[in-house]
Amino acid sequence: MTDFSEICFKCGGKCCKDANPPLSRKRIEILLKNGVKTEEIAFGKYAHPKTKADGFCIFFENGKCRIHNYKPETCVAGPFTFDLKGEVLEIYIKKEEVCPLVEYLKKNKRIYYEQFRIAVANIVQLILDLDKESLEEILKIEEPETVKVSSIHLRIEK
Ligand code: SF4
Repeated sequence: MTDFSEICFKCGGKCCKDANPPLSRKRIEILLKNGVKTEEIAFGKYAHPKTKADGFCIFFENGKCRIHNYKPETCVAGPFTFDLKGEVLEIYIKKEEVCPLVEYLKKNKRIYYEQFRIAVANIVQLILDLDKESLEEILKIEEPETVKVSSIHLRIEK
């Protein structure tokens, strides 16, 4: 898996601001086993890391993700993101203007497809792990700064 930390560090972690990445019950258990405190998680319409006063994720410290090795599936999937329309998984990529990693991936096709494969695997796992109500809430979130790159037919029973 390619390490994008240098590119992300230079960007200043914009995708960690107002991110609210969904946390499945399974992901929460992993985080709690690795030092995260329950008080750092917001249990609202769906579970996600709490946000600091400046809008950044509570796990964003000194320009980096404090839980990098256990971070949520949508964080691993970035700059790819998703929507689910019935049984069709739509994969989107952030616009180059909002994420410098996108330009890098487009210039490096092998790494692009490697990251695409990782993103799809993580997103599918997240969809399987989330409860129906949380998934419905997450699918209401608009992500306007993105472009669709793929549609994949899934057979998921929730
Ligand atoms: S979990 Fe880590 S990568 Fe994800 S939004 Fe929070 S700080 Fe950023």
